[in-house]
Amino acid sequence: MTRDDGVVLVDDHFRDQCGVFGVFGAKEAANLTYLGLHALQHRGQESAGVAVSNGEQLTVHRARGLVQEVFTEEVLAQLVGDRAIGHVRYSTTGGSDVKNAQPLAAEFAAGPIAVAHNGNLTNGGALRARLEADGAIFSSATDTEAVLHLVAREAGSAPERVAAALSQATGAYSMVFLTRDTLIAVRDPNGFRPLCLGRLGDGYVVASEPPAFHLIGGEYLRDVEPGEMLVITDDGLVSSRPFAEAARKMCIFEYVYFARSDAAFNGIGVYSARKRLGATLAREQPVDADIVIPVPDSGVAAAMGFAAVTGLRYELGLIRSHYVGRTFIEPQQSIRHFGVRLKLHPVSEVLKGQRVVVIDDSIVRGTTSRKIVKMIRDSGAREVHVRISSPPTAWPCFYGIDTPDRDELIASAHTPEQIAEHITADSLGYLSIAGLREGVGGDGYCDACFSGAYPIVTEDVPAARRLRVIE
Ligand code: SF4
Repeated sequence: MTRDDGVVLVDDHFRDQCGVFGVFGAKEAANLTYLGLHALQHRGQESAGVAVSNGEQLTVHRARGLVQEVFTEEVLAQLVGDRAIGHVRYSTTGGSDVKNAQPLAAEFAAGPIAVAHNGNLTNGGALRARLEADGAIFSSATDTEAVLHLVAREAGSAPERVAAALSQATGAYSMVFLTRDTLIAVRDPNGFRPLCLGRLGDGYVVASEPPAFHLIGGEYLRDVEPGEMLVITDDGLVSSRPFAEAARKMCIFEYVYFARSDAAFNGIGVYSARKRLGATLAREQPVDADIVIPVPDSGVAAAMGFAAVTGLRYELGLIRSHYVGRTFIEPQQSIRHFGVRLKLHPVSEVLKGQRVVVIDDSIVRGTTSRKIVKMIRDSGAREVHVRISSPPTAWPCFYGIDTPDRDELIASAHTPEQIAEHITADSLGYLSIAGLREGVGGDGYCDACFSGAYPIVTEDVPAARRLRVIE
């Protein structure tokens, strides 16, 4: 898929939009945030930013690019303080302009405030329209900025303002706010997007995923609960639940693909969950074959689970290049469509003459799967059977994941048999929804992109925005 800015998305995956990080009470907070964001880089590669406070002043730096590109030694040297928040982004609302990079920051009557958001408000457009009608002006196209406006219009302390502002929001938000003296971490009542709390020395850390703690020598304490707000100051940490209760609906796709394999949420490890999904897939969709191979890296654990149940030989028949990001600029028109080959390489000595089962985590449009099947067959495989460690993705997401429209999702209008024909596989089998739920411990998850059962109906469609800023 090529976007109008010339960037080619060589992946045919749903995309997580953002990772958030926060640290309070630690020297070199910006450096720690830089490292934490590095551990969350898989959650967004378009822009990165850090806001830091030394108790008196808030300093923010954000730009397009990977974490290591955005934060040079020179930049980090200017980010001084013992409390900070950070963000990596892949755009959901608002496109990829630098003006939409986060943390967003503003000054209002109570002083400076910065915010970093993972998620998508289902009434973001309505909130914005209401604020614009009331005279507010916006400098970004994000729904997050509407929250900042609401915070500014409320009264009381920063946590009171944040709670009152977010009481007007619906949808998905795992957010971190920073004022000069307070770090606030808050998760929406359904808990769509993950958010975790950790300890670092005498201070606290929060992050989308626990591996961000491990990288900086921190310790995971627990998940921030759906509907919970944590307020961290020099006096310590206070937890409250300022919102109306709602059913827990954490995104089940975090276990299938988005989260790192070494992450765990609520005591359920992503790696072991993926192995269980592969094992259940093997029981539900058996196939007579010689070897099992994963589409690396996300299919690896599921393929191991599949191989363990079937007794088939587990092999690495595809090697992934780790030097290609999830986006890559196509150099010229004449050599288009090399994207998959750039990223995955077949191992002919493994594949030649074999009946191959290839395990992937999902099929979105089918374009990549078709190329992978051809690549395996061209390398001499006798048969290529595709097994997917999640159910068919037939519905778009409105809760902070970038997905194509429904009519672009191949499973929305085609049966597995038709999709198998399209991707030229000898057979195709998906995991059932029951098998997926069982693999992650049962209820309490959103699985709307598989089931169509949306926990919250979206109220608005983001409006087209005309303001573009390039720095
Ligand atoms: S619709 Fe799918 S991707 Fe979106 S939150 Fe629900 S499970 Fe996750």
